[in-house]
Amino acid sequence: MGTGTRGRAAGRWQLSAGARAAGGGRREGLIAICLVLMLGLFAAAVAGGLPDPSGVQVQVQPLADAPPPADTPADAEYRAVRLRFDLPPRTPGSRWVVRLEREAVDAVWMQRDGWRSPTLGFFRPGADTGVLPSSYLFALPADWVGPVEVQLHTIGVQRRALYPVVMGEAQALQLEQYGIAASAMIYASLFTIGLLALALFSAARDRMFLALFAFTGVALLALSAVNGHLYQLPVLRGFAFWRTQGVIALVMLLCAAWLQMLLQYAGLAQRRARWKPLVDGVSLALVALVALCLLNLPQVSRVLATGQVVPFAIALGLGLVLLGDAARRRTLMALPLAALAVLVLAGVLVLELSSRGHLLDGVLVRYGYQLAIVVGVAILAVGLVGRIGEYRQQRDREQLERADSERRMQREAARAGLSSELQTRLRTLPAGDIPWTAFRLLIERLLPLMEVERCIVVTQGYHGQDALLVEPVADTDTVRSQLGRRQLALKRQAANGIPLQQPVTEAGAPSVLAIEAVVPLQIRAPAWGALLLQRRGADGFTTEELALAGDFARQTLQQIDQAMAAVQLRQSAELDALTGSFNRRTIDQWLARSFAEGARSGQPVSVLFLDLDHFKSINDRHGHACGDAALREVALALRGALQEGDLFGRYGGEEFIVILPGRNGAAARMVAEQLRMAVDDLRPDCNGQVLHLTVSVGVATRLEREDTPEATLERADRALYSAKAAGRNCVQVAPAVFR
Ligand code: GH3
Ligand code: MG
Ligand code: MG
Repeated sequence: MGTGTRGRAAGRWQLSAGARAAGGGRREGLIAICLVLMLGLFAAAVAGGLPDPSGVQVQVQPLADAPPPADTPADAEYRAVRLRFDLPPRTPGSRWVVRLEREAVDAVWMQRDGWRSPTLGFFRPGADTGVLPSSYLFALPADWVGPVEVQLHTIGVQRRALYPVVMGEAQALQLEQYGIAASAMIYASLFTIGLLALALFSAARDRMFLALFAFTGVALLALSAVNGHLYQLPVLRGFAFWRTQGVIALVMLLCAAWLQMLLQYAGLAQRRARWKPLVDGVSLALVALVALCLLNLPQVSRVLATGQVVPFAIALGLGLVLLGDAARRRTLMALPLAALAVLVLAGVLVLELSSRGHLLDGVLVRYGYQLAIVVGVAILAVGLVGRIGEYRQQRDREQLERADSERRMQREAARAGLSSELQTRLRTLPAGDIPWTAFRLLIERLLPLMEVERCIVVTQGYHGQDALLVEPVADTDTVRSQLGRRQLALKRQAANGIPLQQPVTEAGAPSVLAIEAVVPLQIRAPAWGALLLQRRGADGFTTEELALAGDFARQTLQQIDQAMAAVQLRQSAELDALTGSFNRRTIDQWLARSFAEGARSGQPVSVLFLDLDHFKSINDRHGHACGDAALREVALALRGALQEGDLFGRYGGEEFIVILPGRNGAAARMVAEQLRMAVDDLRPDCNGQVLHLTVSVGVATRLEREDTPEATLERADRALYSAKAAGRNCVQVAPAVFR
């Protein structure tokens, strides 16, 4: 079950990561498809609504020898052509109009003997020019029927082809409406995206959105300048001062903004500096071109008017490279954006070809690339919004990782804490307290790391002890009765050696009350033990948690075993195996220490030598085993008759020694007498035979000049000898000097 949990957890993670990636890609694809569909629908609508251009055939013939009007600017090209067409009789109520695409010209007018049209211009739209015009319309007088010859004059057209088309007024107006709709949609979209970018910036405080806002702003300006609508706005009318160069300047600015936007979008401004210098260089060159345009030099104007498509293409091409790089790094929406950039490039090339007379001009050609730009900006916005999600995911991931490492550190600290605390606490404890104390520490250290309602440690026969520790302690009785019923099953689970989890249900209730983890304690059979963790609800323990509990338990057992071994070692080295009292070696150390202490403090130290009387005969009569048992009982009785601080040991054979720190000769005699009586009162039983033992005691006290025990021991021995001589079962105190 433990491994099952691990597999499930890992699987879930993989599933979610995979779903995230797939979800991102699917969403991106869907959005791209929607946008392309929109674009396609619009194109289809415009193309479907385009009036048939083959209305009236127009012959165009250059008028080479026409002199330019006096007010023609120095850098502007003047051109005049003769138009010949045959006007069919008109239907009542309709007029014929000559329609020209709205090229950036300074002035355009038509003229015939006795008739002159109003002069129209790109940069100075007349008061009667409608909202967002897309063409120049010249209404022909209603009485013109049959073959007509009329001159078309233009100033500032600069090598571009002009396509005068003669059509019915209704048709021309319909065409005009398509232009209006297209440009209105383009401006409205850009405006909306700009506002959205601003809103996103205020929400997310990400400078990317400020960049997007600036980019849409520049795009709006540039496109409205390209379409000639900028010059209808009172505030921006001043742009007309730069004429064509102003338009070019705005287009170049748009290109620079596009590159910088992509730099932000692809995240190259921070990472991967490889492209950044190139992009910055090109942007700077474009800005230099903008400055050059604004100088309004006539020589520059002609070159730029023909060559403006080159920097435009360079900027778009470089943008494509950036987007390719971004797509390789799986940046959201990079591919659709690249596709749109290609569309824009194609659209601009088509426009360029058509305005040079190689292709037919029309609403679609004029607005197609602009529409692609708008869709591109929209995709850019979608991509940027998507990146907020990416950032959030990344931040969440980082937070998770941080929490994870914090948790690991906390666990490591708890582990180290448990280890050191076990070492210090168990060292001084008697054997009987060691397991219990250690398990209590284990619970205390484990609980803060895990969400559990109940923690239980149960052992049987471990170091000869049974233990049951329950946290909270108040549950101990409940748990004890439950464990009584479960004991066999639990023992089997513990013997299994592998942590497992099982639901805790209540009799009669179908729902799971809690999940219990059984972490076996690695104890040698037939002893067994387990750590039980109970968590409310149906949420199980993670593999990591089980491993942690197992690790803590293992560590605790190890320390218990070590502490117990140390206790045993200490006992075997210090104590006499038969009687459990201090052995000769230990008592010698205590003697030396007590005498040194007495010498330093001036406190008296007395020593008693005790020797059992006629013990040989006990052995002889009752056997050696009986003698041993009697020795044990005597030792027990003697120890019981002593006070705290008195030191008692077996000096050898059936001889015992007592050190009495702080007791003078008189006090020592009293103690000796008590000990003698304690043995005298003793009635050890051996195989049904009641024995009677007596003891002789020699007492000696440290003399002032003695700081080692030898001389005192010698006197105590001699006092004992005299006690034996005095008939045994009596106390003799050694005089300061034996005579
Ligand atoms: P007394 O001291 O009164 O003069 O007579 P005693 O018989 O006690 O003589 P002694 O002290 O010389 O003899 C010591 C005897 O104690 C010898 C030995 O049989 C017995 N003895 C010593 N050590 C042990 C022991 O560990 N177990 C048993 N059963 N007997 C021991
Ligand atoms: Mg003896
Ligand atoms: Mg003896």
